[in-house]
Amino acid sequence: MKTRYLDARTPDGLKASVAAACEILRAGEIAALPTETVYGLCADARDAKAVGKIFEAKGRPQDNPLIVHIATPEALDEIACNIPDAARRLAEKYWPGPLTMIFEKKSVIPAVTSGGLDTVAVRMPSHPVIREVILQSGIPIAAPSANRSGSPSPTTAEHVTADFDGVIPLIVDSGCSQFGVESTVISFAVQPPRLLRPGSVTAEQLREELGEIAIDDAILHPLAEGQRVSSPGMKYRHYAPQAQIVLLKGDAAAFSAYTRRHAGDGVYALCFDEDETVLPAVRYGGQADPAQQAARLFAALRELDERGAKLVYGHFPQSDGVGLAVCNRILRAAGFRVIEIESERK
Ligand code: AMP
Ligand code: MG
Repeated sequence: MKTRYLDARTPDGLKASVAAACEILRAGEIAALPTETVYGLCADARDAKAVGKIFEAKGRPQDNPLIVHIATPEALDEIACNIPDAARRLAEKYWPGPLTMIFEKKSVIPAVTSGGLDTVAVRMPSHPVIREVILQSGIPIAAPSANRSGSPSPTTAEHVTADFDGVIPLIVDSGCSQFGVESTVISFAVQPPRLLRPGSVTAEQLREELGEIAIDDAILHPLAEGQRVSSPGMKYRHYAPQAQIVLLKGDAAAFSAYTRRHAGDGVYALCFDEDETVLPAVRYGGQADPAQQAARLFAALRELDERGAKLVYGHFPQSDGVGLAVCNRILRAAGFRVIEIESERK
């Protein structure tokens, strides 16, 4: 299949991209579109056959449900039921934006989209490309990240191309993703509401609106053998580059000293802009700027592979605010390998 590329960064390009995407989705095909979180692989969420093509292209396990993207508040009531007032308040505050909420599902959403669950995850994105496509086509869009299952999520059209050139009919380019990590996911199918995946809408912001929320254990900890998961996506290895990543928890001096002692062939650092290290370094943002770390992390993981890194020492980020999302992604990329280095400074 020949992949068509369109650039949406000019007014004419935006118009052409939206028109082409609407046509493809109406025909039951799939397309990669930019969103403000990461690039998404899109299909009509109501069309089981079209959604099946997403799973096939990504190599995604069938039980890992997709998020349904909408563009108006009314569309929420068409696909979900039992929506608590608190969720409507959150929608008013954070939609359109990087927040996904889970509710009981209506039958218009087929089982393949929800991974066989009787709940559905819903988000209203703000990015003009996907938002216009939803508005003009009237289609609720199922869209997971536009990468092969298991590899880092795509934050540029080049990342999408690396995985899907010749595999899907359309890739729309809109430059670097604004947030760079996938949406915050909170479930209202349980009481109290449970944070399943941290993102750019923070746990602190959710608590401010909801009072008590539960933070799922799987966000910062590996699953125990046979442990039940609230979100099927947590079972799977994620965001993993080819290189083995080991995270070092400690301050700048400890990081510098540890990486000096452990330098070697193919050994790289994944660190903050301010870090000093003798290792060849890929930097993922300012030490005190978790939003910037979130925006740069996935591209940094891909760059480490391109540069042929074999072993990577990553500097562990702070975990408050958007930092919780950065911690969650980098821990998974590292297979939860963490070394405390503070105590080694003598
Ligand atoms: P992605 O499509 O890559 O952004 O991933 C979507 C995430 O949301 C995955 O971790 C899914 O397991 C999770 N998710 C989607 N729908 C549901 C649902 N109905 N219940 C629980 N988790 C969900
Ligand atoms: Mg994904």
